[in-house]
Amino acid sequence: MKRRKFITAISATAALGGLSACSQGESTCSSEEAPKAKTIKWKMVTTWPKNLQGLGVGAEYLANSITEMSGGRLKVKVYGSGELVPALETFNAVSAGTAEMGHGAAYYWKGKMAASPFFTAVPFGLTAAEIQGWLIKGGGYELWRELYAPFGVRPFIAGNTGTQMGGWFNKEIKSLEDIKGLKMRIPGLGGEILSRAGGVPVLMPGSEVFTALETGAVDAAEWVGPYNDLAMGLYKAAKYYYFPGWHEPGPNIEAIVNQESFDALPADLKAIVEQACHAANVNMQADFIAENNAALQVLVEQHHVKLKKFPDDVLIKLREISEQVVGEIANESELSKRILESYNQYKKQVRAWGDISEVAYYESLKL
Ligand code: CA
Repeated sequence: MKRRKFITAISATAALGGLSACSQGESTCSSEEAPKAKTIKWKMVTTWPKNLQGLGVGAEYLANSITEMSGGRLKVKVYGSGELVPALETFNAVSAGTAEMGHGAAYYWKGKMAASPFFTAVPFGLTAAEIQGWLIKGGGYELWRELYAPFGVRPFIAGNTGTQMGGWFNKEIKSLEDIKGLKMRIPGLGGEILSRAGGVPVLMPGSEVFTALETGAVDAAEWVGPYNDLAMGLYKAAKYYYFPGWHEPGPNIEAIVNQESFDALPADLKAIVEQACHAANVNMQADFIAENNAALQVLVEQHHVKLKKFPDDVLIKLREISEQVVGEIANESELSKRILESYNQYKKQVRAWGDISEVAYYESLKL
């Protein structure tokens, strides 16, 4: 019994550190070969173009972190959108086990689960810091797992872009009239809100945004913010760049894992997957925060993009519609109702604190 324990211990050490069992100085170990740890290989499918700044790079960071933290026992290989499955098939692929892991955003699965946008972004909802508080400490994670459980998929927080931009437009938005008939690439609840304001939302993955905007298949498109939008060359397809990103104030990026694949992992690899996701979350936010303004300067100064703020009356109307649209999700199911209640309850108290912390601080800078 004692001996078995010792062998287990040295194989774990060997697997983790690549050390020989005999380096432990145990006299009998020379005749024993520690069993080699099995290498597990996972495929990670993503909704992003491979290695795209911020998002695609975030997927690579996560895959590499898991591979390195596990000492190569769990090797994760990233596939960009369309390489193994189309971008918007990411969730289905992980659910079916075609890929063990995925990287994307929950609001792409709105057609499957009406409440999924709560786990990416709600228009006029939580910021990046606030949504993490809800997910990690405010009951959000538990509700998110419950929502995905029927599909055999386990979600993790794995990034955040911070507050996005309002998008690229080929005509100016001077009033609500300019929204009427506007065909725009905008996913999630933002799309539904645009529709009720008289626009025509279109859902497409990032890889198709440039062509759709350039050919006039859409009049406008939101993607992310300066760092990503510069990389995608969107300034070549539209000249007006609007802010703020009312529809995505701090979108959470998800990693999803096939539940059976996750359950089959030993406890240490499970912990590595979870902690690598959370490290990737911090890393992606740092990337966007450090890079966005420099990219914006390039867009404005070198590419002569016209930076515009949405008129107040447009934002006020969109916010009013947003409250209706978000409220209606509660009718979809008992779980949707609980998600909405949890989100709203959390938002109320976090906003009260925000008013006297960050909001008051930013205001003090403008005095
Ligand atoms: Ca976006």
